[in-house]
Amino acid sequence: MHYCQRCDDPIVMAPQDDLAVCPDCGATEQARRLPLFVVTGASASGKTAVFPHLVAALTDCVVFDVDWLIGPFQRACEFGEVDWPALRDAWLTIAHGAAQSARPTVLLGPFTEAQLDELPSRRWITDIHFAALDCADDVRAARLNARARWREREIDRHNAFAAYLRATVPTLIRTDDGTPHESANRLATWVNTHLA
Ligand SMILES: [Zn+2]
Repeated sequence: MHYCQRCDDPIVMAPQDDLAVCPDCGATEQARRLPLFVVTGASASGKTAVFPHLVAALTDCVVFDVDWLIGPFQRACEFGEVDWPALRDAWLTIAHGAAQSARPTVLLGPFTEAQLDELPSRRWITDIHFAALDCADDVRAARLNARARWREREIDRHNAFAAYLRATVPTLIRTDDGTPHESANRLATWVNTHLA
């Protein structure tokens, strides 16, 4: 978030092209805005498996697994309940930070367009592009059941979220067949097409 460094009160600045502008005094500072790429998907759709391959395929971007902030947010929240909108907003802020180094951000996480559109940091990003990793429900159930015992297995809930994404996200990448490397290459082509 950009606050005016000239005004005596903490005035939130507004985006204007690649600047942040104070609505009170007109002061400006650099605030490059770039698109954001979200690789969403229900649990066990293949996000974690794709991650290292996507990092290797997109060396001009920064690629994050959004789960990395869950632990810090649990510690920051008094009773361990994660404030999910705050966590999502933190990722938009990180993406805007990476944009200052001219790096587009790719987030791997189960986010939806509606969740991100309502966040305070949304206006510091230009377009947000969504692709969803997807697999058949029985494949997802088998993957969930094969996970470490401490992890949850709410298969019906994850399949319902997968159905929602299938109906709402225009770019679907199946992970039933093929390797994570192949899925990552398709995602990299999708990212690079939008950046070109
Ligand atoms: Zn000002």
